[in-house]
Amino acid sequence: MSEPDAEFVAVTDLETWFPIRRGLFRQVVGQVRAVDGVSFQIGRGRTLGLVGESGCGKTTVGRSLLRLVEPTGGSVRFAGHDIRTATAVDLRGLRRRMQIVFQDPYGSLNPRLTVRAILEEGLVVHRLGEGPERLRRMTAALDRTGMPVAALARYPHEFSGGQRQRIAIARALVLEPDFLVLDEPISALDVSIQAQVVNLLAELRRELGLTYLFISHDLSVVEYISDEVAVMYLGRIVEHAAARDLYAAPLHPYTHALFSAIPSVEPARRPSRIVLPGDVPSPAHPPRGCRFHPRCPLAEAVCREQDPPATLVGEHRVHCHVAARELASGDAATTSARIAAALAGTASPCP
Ligand code: SF4
Repeated sequence: MSEPDAEFVAVTDLETWFPIRRGLFRQVVGQVRAVDGVSFQIGRGRTLGLVGESGCGKTTVGRSLLRLVEPTGGSVRFAGHDIRTATAVDLRGLRRRMQIVFQDPYGSLNPRLTVRAILEEGLVVHRLGEGPERLRRMTAALDRTGMPVAALARYPHEFSGGQRQRIAIARALVLEPDFLVLDEPISALDVSIQAQVVNLLAELRRELGLTYLFISHDLSVVEYISDEVAVMYLGRIVEHAAARDLYAAPLHPYTHALFSAIPSVEPARRPSRIVLPGDVPSPAHPPRGCRFHPRCPLAEAVCREQDPPATLVGEHRVHCHVAARELASGDAATTSARIAAALAGTASPCP
């Protein structure tokens, strides 16, 4: 089945809710709406960065795409196949093409297995190759990630964090996938080696034509590696645009707050830090109206009542009543500057 390259990965109204059970009979008394109506598309060979604070649902989105957690609503299509309705046999074939790299290279590699056994596991499950062919695939995957063939005989604890993450990437590559979900792939690594792993991922994407969903809370890294960026808050995407547009002219107040927290080595360019009041509300009880309103310095009466619909400026999409009103009389750059100025009144100087 073919699908236009622009819709290589197509997610529509994705919902992943987790039941809250209580009492002797474990009755369902509520739902944690970890992902609550998320839509996006990723073109073949492109990278979508998914950003937001911890607990916003971005990791659940990544796992729902591969059905490592079961979505409760919406649709996920990959290369023209409906992942949610795929049979077990179809899903196994699709999973070979859709791999995930987890955040923690210490916990994601089985310490009792050699690197060879770790890499071979997927080949066995997917019945790919036999003896020499399997060895060829494993050595090629290690080579692509900059690891020596001698690593095959060693155990994960013999390697540094950066090397383990390279092995985790090799484990995904050995299956020759088309799409990788990269779930905070560098956040557990020392800062000194984060850049090496990001450069490796960028190089692999270029050379192998891979498609990425890059999940991170690090906006600097996301800007470097992504073609498009989606900002998540409390189970929903609040802003989505080409990376250059989002970083040049963020429109949503939450995106402004995230950007204000990026450290800068140039004090003159360091924006005032926007400190959001309170904590992220529980996804079991999301606020009515705009979900960001209890923490938004610009909230108005309408924000407490009405869920903001999407407003589009070209391909730049934002869900905010105030941004929508400003965009009615100005372009994205002007609107971004106005929102930044309004937020500046609520910001504290960066220490
Ligand atoms: Fe803030 Fe209102 Fe915009 Fe929500 S809709 S982000 S509360 S201004």
